[in-house]
Amino acid sequence: MLDLLYPRRCPVCDRAAPFGTLICPACALVPVRMNGPLCHCCGGRLREPEALFCPVCAGRRHAYRRGAAVFDYRSISGPLLRFKYGNRPEYADYFSEELAAALDRALRKDFRVPADMLVPVPLHRERLLARGYNQAELLARGTERRLGIPCRGDVLIRTENTAPLKTMSAPERRSCLKSAFHSCSDDVKSKTIILIDDIYTTGSTMDACAEALYRGGAGSVYFMALAIGAQAGQNA
Ligand SMILES: [Zn+2]
Ligand SMILES: [Zn+2]
Repeated sequence: MLDLLYPRRCPVCDRAAPFGTLICPACALVPVRMNGPLCHCCGGRLREPEALFCPVCAGRRHAYRRGAAVFDYRSISGPLLRFKYGNRPEYADYFSEELAAALDRALRKDFRVPADMLVPVPLHRERLLARGYNQAELLARGTERRLGIPCRGDVLIRTENTAPLKTMSAPERRSCLKSAFHSCSDDVKSKTIILIDDIYTTGSTMDACAEALYRGGAGSVYFMALAIGAQAGQNA
């Protein structure tokens, strides 16, 4: 019913999507899905198809157990920027539909575990107030509705408002994020948790969140990201 009153904008071209759809048929061909030989740890594309791990994951153990992503970042960088900074929370409808389908597949084929809860990567309170929404939480809520795995946005908090990580090297990101996240609920104890975020770049944020959840007693931590950047896997 709401669709009648407020047609959804297509996340690719930002115009109203055709009635009853979340994306224009032509625009649906633009986002590139992650397929082919992928890293068995981060889910990034492998340059050496015979390898099990990308150079990043081969060289350094991640705190999370395994992860996967839906899209190649380069194919949807514009839509992701608008989703994050351009006040387009409505894109979450299309994005979470895709993320839920990919997570369902990953849980069966790659992670091979039943998930207990989805935990969105938290934003610092100040940034949340400024933006009005946490894009990761919107993705996790949409996935909860589709897969029935409970979303818990209240078990992990971000206590430090770090400077933008974009320009930092991986070691700089790691030290900056070390004490940024805290697990704040006993409900994570012994649970299998899927962290949800919009973009996976070097894995520093995901590792910091996983470490915080393990400190809180989590059993195992995986991640599902909407998009994965070239820094994961390819340009190590
Ligand atoms: Zn479109
Ligand atoms: Zn990897």
